[in-house]
Amino acid sequence: MYSMIELPYGMDALEPYYSEETLRIHYEKLYKGYVDNLNKVEEKLDIARKSNDYSNIKCLEKDLAFYGAGKHLHEKFFLNLGPKNEAKASDRLLNRIKEDFGSFENFTNQFDEASKVVEASGWCILVWSTNLKKLEILQCEKHQNLSMWGCIPILIIDMWEHSYFLQYKQDRQEYINNFWNIVNWNEVNKTFEKVYNRCFILW
Ligand code: MN
Repeated sequence: MYSMIELPYGMDALEPYYSEETLRIHYEKLYKGYVDNLNKVEEKLDIARKSNDYSNIKCLEKDLAFYGAGKHLHEKFFLNLGPKNEAKASDRLLNRIKEDFGSFENFTNQFDEASKVVEASGWCILVWSTNLKKLEILQCEKHQNLSMWGCIPILIIDMWEHSYFLQYKQDRQEYINNFWNIVNWNEVNKTFEKVYNRCFILW
C-alpha cells in the first residue's frame, strides 16, 4: 500500500501565490485520488496474478501507468514548491542551465511558453536526460505516456486546470508567474545533484 507524502509546509504556506483552498483541494482530493486508485490497481493486479486471470490486463496496465505517473508527478510538484524564500538555483545547476539554454532567462522564458500551451490537462517539466546528458524542457500531456525515456524530472509545474482554475481562472500566465515565487530551489538543487551527469542504462 502506498501512502500520501506529507507536505513539508502548511496548507496556507504558499499564499498568496497559491491559495490555501486550491492547495487543499489539490492535495486532499486530487492527489489523494491518485494514491488511492493506484492502491486499488495494485490490489487488482495482485488478484489477477494469483488467479492467473489476465482478462482485464490491458485496462489494469493503463490504470497503473495513469495513477502511478500521476502520483509521482504530483509528489515532485508539491515538493518542488515551498514558501517564498531567498534560495536560488545552485551554481552547478545555474551553470548547466546557461550551458543548455543560453541563460536563466532563456530557460524561464521557454518554461513559461511551453507551460502556457500545454494542451488541456498536463504538465511542463524540466528534466535531466540521461541519454543526451542535458537539461531539457518537456511538455507532458498524457502523463500515462512517457514523453521521453530516460529522463528524470527536476522541476515540475502542474498545468491541469484543477491546479489553478479556482484561483486564476483561465489566466495561466499569472499562475505561472506566481509559481516562480514559490519554487523550492533547495529541493530542485538536491534532485539535480543526485542525477547530474549520471547515466542510467535502462535497456
Ligand atoms: Mn494536479
